[in-house]
Amino acid sequence: MRFLLRRCSKCNRYSLKERCPLCNEETVSAHPAKFSPDDKYMRYRLAERYN
Ligand SMILES: [Zn+2]
Repeated sequence: MRFLLRRCSKCNRYSLKERCPLCNEETVSAHPAKFSPDDKYMRYRLAERYN
């Protein structure tokens, strides 16, 4: 499952749209690219297997 939650960089309001409905500012992804729980989980599983 992939969430596409975004956040306005101006008023910090969460939105699903490309632009904030309040101030019409461009929104940015609420999830940093480096945040990847699936990858982390997979690494732990692999580490378990090979240790
Ligand atoms: Zn806004």
